[in-house]
Amino acid sequence: MKNKISKLNISFWQWLVVIPSTIGITAIGSYFSADYFVKDKIKGVGAIYVDHIDGLISQADEISRYALTLKDSECKELFDYMLFQPYYRSALIYNSLYIHCSSKTGDINAPLSIVSATENLQIPNQFIVSGTYFMPGVPAVVVSNWDPVSKHGAAVLIEGQHLLDTFIQTNVYPSPVINIALSINGKTIPESIGIIENQLVTLDSDLHHYSLLLEISPSFFLHFFWIFFAISIPVSFILIAGSILFVLYSRRNRQSLADDIRSGIENEEFFLVYQPIICSGDGKAKGVEVLVRWQHPQMGLVRPDLFIPIAEEGKLIIPLTDYIFEKALKDFVDIKVQPGFRVAFNVAPAHFTLNDIEAKFIQLRDSFKRMGIKLLIEITERQLLTPDLCQGIAGLRQLGILVAIDDFGTGQTTLSLLQTMPLDYLKIDKCFIDTIGLESVTSHVLDTIIELSHKMSYLVVAEGVETQEQADYLISRQVHFLQGYLFAKPMRHADLKRWLM
Ligand code: C2E
Ligand code: CA
Ligand code: CA
Repeated sequence: MKNKISKLNISFWQWLVVIPSTIGITAIGSYFSADYFVKDKIKGVGAIYVDHIDGLISQADEISRYALTLKDSECKELFDYMLFQPYYRSALIYNSLYIHCSSKTGDINAPLSIVSATENLQIPNQFIVSGTYFMPGVPAVVVSNWDPVSKHGAAVLIEGQHLLDTFIQTNVYPSPVINIALSINGKTIPESIGIIENQLVTLDSDLHHYSLLLEISPSFFLHFFWIFFAISIPVSFILIAGSILFVLYSRRNRQSLADDIRSGIENEEFFLVYQPIICSGDGKAKGVEVLVRWQHPQMGLVRPDLFIPIAEEGKLIIPLTDYIFEKALKDFVDIKVQPGFRVAFNVAPAHFTLNDIEAKFIQLRDSFKRMGIKLLIEITERQLLTPDLCQGIAGLRQLGILVAIDDFGTGQTTLSLLQTMPLDYLKIDKCFIDTIGLESVTSHVLDTIIELSHKMSYLVVAEGVETQEQADYLISRQVHFLQGYLFAKPMRHADLKRWLM
């Protein structure tokens, strides 16, 4: 393993990127985990406290309802009652104009504004006042009730500081909360709070109309951040560095496979197999498709769908195809075929970017012609049919070389493109042939492709015919040529020679 990693040739600078990026990603992850965890913990602590304040406000509400039941002459009773209520500053009874009873001073005659000049005392209400006439600058929460029938109201004032002072934190170090505030209708106790938005937990009461604001202690947050960071850094390092190594390793593997293809061409490790193409009219073989195989010295037989894409990526498809052309030419020297027999090669679009392409194809065409063979080039539809490629196809046809569009239906060739670019054959991919006999959406696509080909006068080849049912279906729909295991598997040169005889 160590050896494999050292082969990746990761430079010092690359490691220098891997390490900080791992640390950075872990730090971001730990930040959000700690943030979620800490806020969740503080919400738990705050919920107990909200219950406590809810209790005090509910009790103040009850007191004010009790005060409403007292007659004008019973102010003394309110005074006695409030003697045993330590959290409440005072209780007041008033009418629509004056406060006439205070639990602190007994009978009075003061304007409503000594409680608040802005709030409406003639509706049931809860609000914050920053101070009262007797205790200016000392905030309180006012809980008031109003009886519209007797036109009397009663208010109870809860000491604001008391509400804050009763907040008790769990006995842990560091403490979770460093600041606490109560908020009603945009007013707060304490009045000015220097709380930073994102370090704030807000809890709304379900029972009464207020919110509790808790400021998270930075040291409490950092405490958990470092715990999360310490736990996740080794795991992240293994995951991130592991994936980077994996990507580099597979890239190197692809590179080494490309090197193997290069040496494989030199050492003639590639060989050809031929799969007959049958005319549906008379059941005779009218041509073959050339398919390449690779006998890798270590890996054994490698499938073309595995190495062709790597050859294309590594710019090796051109030498490989040249090698295939040469091999096929040699193979056909001693095979007797009917005149007009077609030999089909799969050619990648990269070929059409070459300058000497025309000379190469003329030479190939003539060499096969001398053996009575007509050259056919299959171009897969999955590759984008670029203007270059279309020009290349037109050029081939001018040279008298037949052109087929391979894997038709699997790519994105538009019908209009087919109309503007004349072709000789359409090869329908095996995946459509597989749908014969199945009631699927794609089985209708097959019929459409066949109809379209007929309309445009293309010859149609069905690929991957495996059953008699498929063959019968395709023949009944006038598909001209069939290719597949039902007739013959791809075979080596010697077997083809026997098979054709
Ligand atoms: P393709 O051009 O669509 O070739 C047809 C593939 O279907 C071949 O697989 C063939 O062996 C297989 N086949 C034919 N009849 C049947 C059947 O009845 N049943 C089944 N299950 N399969 C059938 P192969 O030889 O493995 O080739 C795979 C692909 O690799 C080809 O698809 C082609 O795209 C590429 N390839 C093969 N040889 C060459 C080559 O010489 N040059 C280039 N550029 N590509 C090649
Ligand atoms: Ca093909
Ligand atoms: Ca195919």
